[in-house]
Amino acid sequence: MKAVPPKLNSLNARIWVLLVATVVLVGAAVLYFFNPATSAFYPVCQFHRLTGWNCPGCGMTRSLHALLHGHFTVALRDNALLVGVLALSLMRGLQFGWNHWRGHANGAFFPAKFLWWLLGAAVIFAGLRNLPNFAFLSP
Ligand SMILES: [Zn+2]
Repeated sequence: MKAVPPKLNSLNARIWVLLVATVVLVGAAVLYFFNPATSAFYPVCQFHRLTGWNCPGCGMTRSLHALLHGHFTVALRDNALLVGVLALSLMRGLQFGWNHWRGHANGAFFPAKFLWWLLGAAVIFAGLRNLPNFAFLSP
């Protein structure tokens, strides 16, 4: 027997949207006002600390800080994968909004096929950014 996930009613959905929006805004404010390159309270990447290699997430907070300050090229240098994923998320969000506004049904925000593709891209990105010829991908 297949388990059926519980449906969110309208109030719960609004509370979740409000909660997620609050967390995103508070996180963006912290990243805007406290530079990850100079603030000690941000978590350190344990993979990088243990191996000396860059994982796909290395440089994400610095990249977000740069994006929030409008420094697009710095953000790309710190973590190009994040900038790409944010751009895709923005485009998908606009498509979602457009479909919703026109009364058309939306599927999953990111279909499973896309998430598998993203996982593959993250693995390739992690491999490349640790090679000397692709040092420009390292933060
Ligand atoms: Zn890392």
